[in-house]
Amino acid sequence: MCSGRVDLEFVLRAFSNGMDGVFIGGCRLNECNYITHGNYDALNMVLLCRRIMERIGLNPARLRVEFMTSGEGNLFTEVVDDFSKAINELGPLGQSEGLDEDELSSRLAEARKLVPYIKIEKREKLASRLKNKEEYDELFTRQEIDELFSEIVSYHIDPAKCQACMICYRRCPVEAISGGKNTIHVIDQDICIKCGTCLEACPPRFGAVNKITGQPVPPPIPEEERSIVRKSKVT
Ligand code: SF4
Ligand code: SF4
Repeated sequence: MCSGRVDLEFVLRAFSNGMDGVFIGGCRLNECNYITHGNYDALNMVLLCRRIMERIGLNPARLRVEFMTSGEGNLFTEVVDDFSKAINELGPLGQSEGLDEDELSSRLAEARKLVPYIKIEKREKLASRLKNKEEYDELFTRQEIDELFSEIVSYHIDPAKCQACMICYRRCPVEAISGGKNTIHVIDQDICIKCGTCLEACPPRFGAVNKITGQPVPPPIPEEERSIVRKSKVT
């Protein structure tokens, strides 16, 4: 229904599925019928995605957003024709970028994995209401996206501090945390979407969750070493 519904993940998934270009059509800016103005969300998402595409070596011209009314059929035809021509000239995804299929898939997979994290980190800018096109290029800069990718945050549970209270286990939105009663909890880094909920949820008196920036995460504690023996239970 609304261009604002087009998620960053949808665009990257389309490229992962072999699309050579993605075109998003939205209502004219400032003419939204609702108070949501989702077309601004679409614009901001596209500006962010284009920077991510640059970062991973894809030509950002493969993604375009245009705004028009339902009565502007001629304009729609013109922009779609123009976009199709531009994509035809670029050729299949990866070709003009000099990326082979494996490299392309791996770069897109890596970027897709970071989508929830990127959306959290950039949530304020993603809610911007830009006034003119001159501001478009400035909303997200190349340097900013380079820093975002090179200083990726991870969350790690310190096995020496975890008290197996299971609060983080219950609050994690993607079931990335394994653990149980009297069992030290461990985060599966492949599943974690870096939302930070576990850091906020872990009681301050335990302070077992650490936020790690731009550094490798310590390996998980071996399963046979995860049992917690309470002092009161020792005879
Ligand atoms: S950061 Fe979020 S997704 Fe990752 S383990 Fe913690 S709660 Fe789960
Ligand atoms: S909330 Fe903290 S103490 Fe409790 S299980 Fe999670 S990491 Fe361990």
